Amino acid sequence: MYKRILLKISGESLKKNEFINKNIITFITKEIKKIYDKKIQIVIIIGGGNILRGKDLNYLNIDKIISDQTGMLSTIINGLILYNFLKKKNIDTKIMSTINILNICEVYNYIKINEYLKKNKVVIITSGIGNALFTTDSAACLKAIEIKSDILIKATKVNGVYDNDPHIYKNAKFFSKIKYKEIIKKKIKVMDTISFYIANKYKLPIYIYNIYKKNALYNIIMGKKEGTLIY
Ligand code: UDP
Repeated sequence: MYKRILLKISGESLKKNEFINKNIITFITKEIKKIYDKKIQIVIIIGGGNILRGKDLNYLNIDKIISDQTGMLSTIINGLILYNFLKKKNIDTKIMSTINILNICEVYNYIKINEYLKKNKVVIITSGIGNALFTTDSAACLKAIEIKSDILIKATKVNGVYDNDPHIYKNAKFFSKIKYKEIIKKKIKVMDTISFYIANKYKLPIYIYNIYKKNALYNIIMGKKEGTLIY
């Protein structure tokens, strides 16, 4: 179904007792390996919410730009750990950062990403778009459009899009498919507003799925029923 994908993994989803849970990251690695073996071109954007989001430092009353920069650094920590797990599984992987941290990561480069993807290398992009005041969701939308990804797949802790939070409302209605304009009309919270605006403007289809569900990622790639498609 999809040849080139951008997978957004939130930092939050890696957390359970420890800031990165070994079973969770091992599981995610195996799920990525299944689609890597199918020669899918994969770019991953990883968040940092399990370590630090800029807003976590509000209580210190420091400069918002600096606190967001520390948030971006936390995505590099997650990216490096995921990089190592993918390499251990023999997944040929590159790691890039949109902020310059050359001793550790390559600098984000659109042309290089294309070259790597054509050689079946997975590319992890860290530090979002490299600008404070944004999130890795916004980065995922922007980069998915930039690298001409067929789809943005957002891994979450829920099965997809509901009309209400399923953790709170037991009878929340699930959508297997939903149009952008319907989400806007119903005021359903899927991603931050800027990301959603960008995705809608450039007609980027988005899949929302449960990161902890076995074969869910594979099923999406194979066009089987899974998660929610926003179109
Ligand atoms: N961040 C930023 N610019 C970006 C991406 C991220 O300033 O382009 C900062 C921001 O403070 C954010 C933090 O990095 O809260 C971690 O990213 P995010 O909250 O998106 O992580 P996730 O929720 O996906 O784990």
